Amino acid sequence: MIGILGAGALGRLWAACLPAGRVAFIARPAEPAGASIRYRFRPFNGPETDVHVPWLTAGDIPEVVLVTTKAGDAFEAIAGVIDRFPRQTPIVLFQNGLGSQQRVAARWSDRPILAASSTEGANRPEPDLLVHAGTGDTWIGPMTESAGRQLNPVVELLNASGLTVHPEQHILQRLWQKLVINAGINPYTALLDCPNGDILASSLYLDTIDGLCHELSELMRASGQGKQTPEALRQRIEAVARKTARNTSSMRADVLNGRITEINFINGYLATLGKDLRIQTPVNQMLTEQVQQLSPG
Ligand code: NAP
Repeated sequence: MIGILGAGALGRLWAACLPAGRVAFIARPAEPAGASIRYRFRPFNGPETDVHVPWLTAGDIPEVVLVTTKAGDAFEAIAGVIDRFPRQTPIVLFQNGLGSQQRVAARWSDRPILAASSTEGANRPEPDLLVHAGTGDTWIGPMTESAGRQLNPVVELLNASGLTVHPEQHILQRLWQKLVINAGINPYTALLDCPNGDILASSLYLDTIDGLCHELSELMRASGQGKQTPEALRQRIEAVARKTARNTSSMRADVLNGRITEINFINGYLATLGKDLRIQTPVNQMLTEQVQQLSPG
């Protein structure tokens, strides 16, 4: 049995794609596990299907736990249930950005904690409809020592979904690569309330992107993530913004839906890292503060 903690868009995508009967959602400790979760699944290609996913029962021992909450909820969500699972149960973190993964790995360093970086796209336009909006790749890699041994079995298990899953020994590097793109696109789309491509002509973007890329370049170098020039980073950000020009970023979607964004784990993570490393990050700080003002809480 594969346990999924977080029955939102990404959790429901994995639950719908993994073989039926092999998956269960993990309820919050205070939440009595009721009837199974039912929803319609609209795959990227092919007809809609009905999906029923049961709740994990007290007697079920999961082979692996996928954590698909938002980054800000992951630590508390895991803390609420982890004592139910044997020490060797691998736990795979699917959160975007950085910061939450390191916090979980540091707290449960004796457990096999893995992190995933995924370019799959899933959303819930209605509460009981899950749309697989874009196919992509998922890379999984170890965050703690004991996770190394579990990497290949976990990848094999998740490949049964039909989604494309790869082992990645250097998962932090891969998470950094995604972080840089997210940091250069998501806050602008949220602040300007526009699709990805439209940020490129805005004065907010044009006035701050060189400063942001300078900060990103310095932070990457100081964190052992290699030397990338600000110009190269800007080119990568703009190539992705153009390729995904009509897309709505998850941060803009969160603001539009009145949900808390993941800014604290994207530009906020970078601003905090800058303080620790004594690197000035005025653009990351400004973007973090302005996006925080758009979101509840
Ligand atoms: P989401 O739709 O908001 O789903 C998160 C789910 O976690 C919600 O159903 C939430 O329940 C649940 N949750 C929160 N606290 C919990 C707890 N303590 N115990 C159990 N469940 C809890 O978010 P998402 O779009 O699936 O994204 C999840 C993560 O994956 C994010 O970090 C995102 O950046 C990343 N990601 C998403 C995609 C994608 O295509 N969606 C792709 C790549 C990466 P409530 O709603 O009841 O609070």
